[in-house]
Amino acid sequence: MNDAQRNHYDVLVIGGGPAGTTIASLLAEKGRSVCLLEKAHHPRFHIGESLLPMNLPILEKLGVLDQVDAIGMKKYAAEFNSTDTLLAQDTFYFAKAANPNHPFAYQVRRSEFDELLFKNCQQKGVTAIEGMTVTDTELEGSVKKIQARDDQGEPHEFSARYLIDASGRDTVLAQQLNSKQKNPKHKMAAIYGHFNSVERRTGNDTGNISIYWFQHGWIWLIPLKDGATSIGCVCWPDYLKTRNTPLAEFLQHTLELVPEIRERMKYAQLDGEAQATGNYSYQSNIMSGDGFLLIGDAYAFVDPVFSSGVYLAMQSAMRGADLVDQLLENNTPHKYLISQFENSVSAEIKAFCWFIYRFNSPALHKLLMSSDEAAQHPVKQKLKSAVISVLAGDAYNNPEIRLPLRAFKFLYLINKLAEFKKNHAFNRFRKQQNQAQ
Ligand SMILES: Cc1cc2nc3c(=O)[nH]c(=O)nc-3n(C[C@H](O)[C@H](O)[C@H](O)COP(=O)(O)OP(=O)(O)OC[C@H]3O[C@@H](n4cnc5c(N)ncnc54)[C@H](O)[C@@H]3O)c2cc1C
Repeated sequence: MNDAQRNHYDVLVIGGGPAGTTIASLLAEKGRSVCLLEKAHHPRFHIGESLLPMNLPILEKLGVLDQVDAIGMKKYAAEFNSTDTLLAQDTFYFAKAANPNHPFAYQVRRSEFDELLFKNCQQKGVTAIEGMTVTDTELEGSVKKIQARDDQGEPHEFSARYLIDASGRDTVLAQQLNSKQKNPKHKMAAIYGHFNSVERRTGNDTGNISIYWFQHGWIWLIPLKDGATSIGCVCWPDYLKTRNTPLAEFLQHTLELVPEIRERMKYAQLDGEAQATGNYSYQSNIMSGDGFLLIGDAYAFVDPVFSSGVYLAMQSAMRGADLVDQLLENNTPHKYLISQFENSVSAEIKAFCWFIYRFNSPALHKLLMSSDEAAQHPVKQKLKSAVISVLAGDAYNNPEIRLPLRAFKFLYLINKLAEFKKNHAFNRFRKQQNQAQ
């Protein structure tokens, strides 16, 4: 018996992040034999610490909600700050979303979060192996094969009836299939780090994410339970090209451009190294094929501004588990089920994209931050509640918000036309940045 025959499973999963561990756990619960290969060893660093309220039902389904509660910081709202509009700050409380049943989410250290998800899938019977890097895959035929190398460089072969790529930004299958496309509508990059002694909000607002618009993009502040704060700047390419100092210095300098952040960071110190992620928006033009599926960041990633990455990864994994289980049951590719899966994943991503592409535009700033008396009008409150539903991760599933969201988008258009010159100049700038090398 060779390696591939010995290591044969119903399902092979590449990657042990939120997407991979979720799909592996759920398929194991359905009685499938599942093997998951992770190149790193948990706990390992990962960026992406702010979860959405709609993550909670998924965590509950996985049976890890109590564990996440133990390591997480409760986040009741997303706070937006702008120096560009009349109102400098507005806080969007999740309790005011159209579905008020999930009034908070969590901020988590990903090393801890991903480790508990990984252990959970092992407890559910998944053969989850760390320190095993997938180097090649064979997609032809009914048995899919994977070549991998362990930490000592020893080769291993695995095989399965179904292969799932959850390898995140490494995009193992999309690279192999040559299907990875840079997103032509969005080209920003991020620099970030963890800081100690950053001033926090008080009371129930302590765990809120703070987002600041500034002239070169936007900045996040995510408070973590152990006292550290994750801080990152998402910037236009032209600004990042001006860097002529070490990354940590450049990050510090960029943060100091915003007076309130400078104040909140008066006593702050960088804990560990500053990091950068360039050109992060991409999508594969293939989501599935005969006996394989791409989920989470292995399929697409747009932008972290609405903290949607982990939610989208786990949601696509949850839907993917149902799909793969049914396909394995029937033993034939079922076109309807596959297109239903693909449409739902694309629609969820699209729901965030509308806001992401316009996030830095003056028209959206004005709409999101409008504080005048008219903002208290019940109709405007309804629109705000729809926007909060998007921020909570409930954009796709909640039919109640479709109409208010359409009205919001219409208002956006009117705002854009009302200040045509300003918005047109911004659009020109954005296009030029998207074309930058
Ligand atoms: C700057 C930035 C900030 C972000 N902030 C947020 C945020 O606040 N909230 C949020 O929800 N999302 C955020 N995200 C997005 C979030 O990090 C991702 O969307 C999320 O981690 C996707 O989960 P995943 O399981 O698909 O991939 P990952 O979490 O990346 O997991 C993939 C796993 O696959 C493993 N792997 C890779 N290649 C191989 C291989 N060849 N063999 C074996 N294993 C392999 C990796 O080691 C990794 O453990 C942010 C992203 C960026 C770039």
